[in-house]
Amino acid sequence: MSTLVDLHMHTTASDGEHTPSSLVDLAKDSGIQIMSITDHDTVDGLDEAIARAEEQNITLVPGIEISVKDKRELHILGYCIEYHRPEFEENIKKLKKYRTIREDITLDFLHQKGFDITEEEVLEEAGNDVVGRPHFAAVMMRKGYVDTKKDAFDKYLASKEFLEIHRPKPTINEAIEMIKSGRGIPVLAHPHSMGLIGNALEQRIKHLKDSGLKGMECYYNSYAKNHSDKMFDVNYYLNIADKYGLLATGGSDYHGEKVKPGISIGCGRYGPIGFNDEEICDKLKSTKEKMYNLAI
Ligand code: AMP
Ligand code: ZN
Ligand code: FE
Ligand code: FE
Repeated sequence: MSTLVDLHMHTTASDGEHTPSSLVDLAKDSGIQIMSITDHDTVDGLDEAIARAEEQNITLVPGIEISVKDKRELHILGYCIEYHRPEFEENIKKLKKYRTIREDITLDFLHQKGFDITEEEVLEEAGNDVVGRPHFAAVMMRKGYVDTKKDAFDKYLASKEFLEIHRPKPTINEAIEMIKSGRGIPVLAHPHSMGLIGNALEQRIKHLKDSGLKGMECYYNSYAKNHSDKMFDVNYYLNIADKYGLLATGGSDYHGEKVKPGISIGCGRYGPIGFNDEEICDKLKSTKEKMYNLAI
């Protein structure tokens, strides 16, 4: 059975390959019934996507993915955001400012490594004001400094040395408050990327839940049911979500073949990610109603 729901995808508004409209078209063609666009630190693609989703008769959950300060990679998804709320818009400006500072820091780092890369080249690659490491990786590859984008990450952009550099990002509490300023639902993205497992992971999840987390991404492009490594096991995460009363969500983190090869809409490394919860919209809706005391 193919995947029906994909709640994690990126567009040209951040570091995805496809425009919001074409991503909606592709999702529809892939048999997806419920989708979300979760660009990094921006909601700039949502107006266009929602208009296209209406034409295509596909359900689109407005989303975002916020990068949070952590030793490893910690990303918080926000779902059902009312992204035109003024306080939320102010918070997005702050996120973009952080990102611009991170862009300068990354350029300095690459210059120190001897690479001749200009801000203009990176901005041109990004095509918008949301610059991310995949854009740097693309420029590095184009200029022959690395053979593949993966090399750019492994050797430089995801190296221990790079990750230890202080780069401004919101704290977990700030990120959750930002999502709440848009009356959204905070969900932990790809939990394996925090690099924790077992007790350490559960302690962290408990802490995140105390900070206001409402859900966890249990289906992901590198996860499978009964994977031999529990860090990539869907059932392992489903059990944790159940134990801590978190909503189980899932998505492919599709960026397009050029940006992140080997992943397609609704599918990851092992085929369909298998997230088929047709009631997810009702679950998100009732979570939101409870969070914000909305009249039913
Ligand atoms: P940024 O917004 O600058 O933190 O970049 C985040 C993007 O980089 C996400 O799309 C990730 O999929 C991608 N990314 C992060 N780490 C790696 C890695 N080790 N290899 C390939 N892509 C990565
Ligand atoms: Zn990305
Ligand atoms: Fe992410
Ligand atoms: Fe993502």
